[in-house]
Formats: sequence, structure tokens, C-alpha cells
Amino acid sequence: MSKIEQRTSTRKANRARAGQAAKEFFEGTQTINGVPGFREHGSKPGWWIYIGRIPFARCIVIPQGDSVEIHDVVVCKEGDRRQGHGTAMIADIRQAFPGAHIWVDTSDCARPFWQKMVARGHIDSIENDYSWPCFDTTCAICHPTRTTGRRRSA
Ligand SMILES: [Zn+2]
Repeated sequence: MSKIEQRTSTRKANRARAGQAAKEFFEGTQTINGVPGFREHGSKPGWWIYIGRIPFARCIVIPQGDSVEIHDVVVCKEGDRRQGHGTAMIADIRQAFPGAHIWVDTSDCARPFWQKMVARGHIDSIENDYSWPCFDTTCAICHPTRTTGRRRSA
């Protein structure tokens, strides 16, 4: 086998492996209105874990009556934030539930993102009108004042 033939066959094998991994990853997920990647939540009946944008982002989707709550949005790696992965994922949820009233509760630091999602029509409303500081104690938006001013940088 020539070097070029070798490289080609390695590439083909890698591609086949990646394809197989993707297939196994999506096994047991469901497609809703043409959007693949909804996995049934292990312990909450009726809830979905949306993995269609893994490895970049995931979220939990909770349909109830004619409403759908988007919950626990995670954009996975710091470097992947502000790259449009979150927006693409929320647009997927709209496509999956076109007629529903889609809503969220949001932490203070994520509120500008969700306001943008409302403006673009990807979701219908932000429901919490109260301040909700996030769990990240290094977040200066949600935790501007601290008892001793001490803050880990990352
Ligand atoms: Zn925060």
C-alpha cells in the first residue's frame, strides 16, 4: 500500500468510527418535529434531555399542557460560549415545539441572552421577575458584593 493509500484508508476508518459513535450516542433518542436528539429523562416522566447540540450545549425540556419550559441550559466549554451554540440549541427547541409557549426562569447573568431569545422569537417569555444569582461564586454579575471582597479568578 502506498503512503497515500494508507492515509486514505486511515481516514476512512476514522470516519467510520466517528459515524458509529454518533449512531450509538443517538440510540434511544427521539425526534420531535424533525429535530433529533431528545432523550427521555431518567427519573422525571415527560421531561426530555436535549442532546442534539452535544458536545457544545445541552438543556432539559419540560412540556406541560401548551407550555414548554427550558431548564438547566449548559454551554459546555468556556471557549464555546458566545459562539452561537446556545442560540442554535434554543432555535432547535422552537422548531420542535412550534405552537407552544416556550419560557424560562433565568439567572441574572444569563438574562441578556434570554432577552435576545425573546426578541428573536426563539422563546416567548422570561417568567422570573426577581433576581436569581447563579451558583458560580466567581460570577461578578450575580455576586457583585462579597463579605470580604475575596473572589477566585476562575
Ligand atoms: Zn452569574
